[in-house]
Amino acid sequence: TSFAVSLGFVEIGATSGVLLCFEDLSEKEQASQMRRDFVANVSHELRTPLTALIGFIETLQGPARHDDKAIDRFLGIMQSEAARMERLVRDLLSLSRVESEERVRAKDPVDLGRIIGSVLHTLRPLAKESACEIAFDPPDGVRVPGNSDQLQQVFTNLVENAIKYGGKGNAITITLDPSPPETTLRVPAVVVRVRDRGPGIDPRHIPRLTERFYRVDTHRSRERGGTGLGLAIVKHIVNRHRGRLRIDSTPGQGSAFTVILPRWTHSA
Ligand code: ADP
Repeated sequence: TSFAVSLGFVEIGATSGVLLCFEDLSEKEQASQMRRDFVANVSHELRTPLTALIGFIETLQGPARHDDKAIDRFLGIMQSEAARMERLVRDLLSLSRVESEERVRAKDPVDLGRIIGSVLHTLRPLAKESACEIAFDPPDGVRVPGNSDQLQQVFTNLVENAIKYGGKGNAITITLDPSPPETTLRVPAVVVRVRDRGPGIDPRHIPRLTERFYRVDTHRSRERGGTGLGLAIVKHIVNRHRGRLRIDSTPGQGSAFTVILPRWTHSA
């Protein structure tokens, strides 16, 4: 722990004295260290694809200039590196947007069954590619107050992870409980659980999964197009909705990501 100490002389009426001030700097230091780490991480993440792009451009201008096969192959790699940078910038923007908001602005009733249904529709090709079966049979009209784009992002990230990390032929189950018996929220809540039967996550990683750029296996994440920001975004959005995210996993059996959100109680 470090302190800033300042010393001053004060006079109040006939009394004079010395004022000694201690300020705890550890919190400030921690925040500025986190900022420095973040900038270093972002620079590193952007530099990797950029270095590859510059390298391939130089090769295309030089030795591979007249080699049609090499040109095709290198352009393919350059496209996927550029796409990685685009994903990273998109996720950084999402994160900074949700971080800068104190609370969700638009508090409209959001139909969770519908939102998740549309997420599954969008992710169908990805699921098909991995031979993933996704089961989801929601009750009608389960609503929460919130921002539908942000909630859509939450479930996109969770289902995409279940597909990406669950392995080929994985079975994913999504359940939506409109009136769970008891939750950690003090208000009426709804619970959504995205469960996969993939390889699971070692318990020592679980508390850190929602940190920006934390990955269990960096190579695997990169290979699957991950930016390391998905769960950080999920956690921020869920917090902004006054909800909670819970992660349970058993290595060898799979993982469950549970989102608890306050239920819509106003008459719409
Ligand atoms: P990424 O962009 O790397 O997917 P996330 O923040 O979404 O970043 O996830 C962080 C890490 O958590 C991933 O790199 C992966 O190691 C692990 N992870 C996330 N979801 C799952 C899952 N369903 N099964 C196993 N590991 C997972």
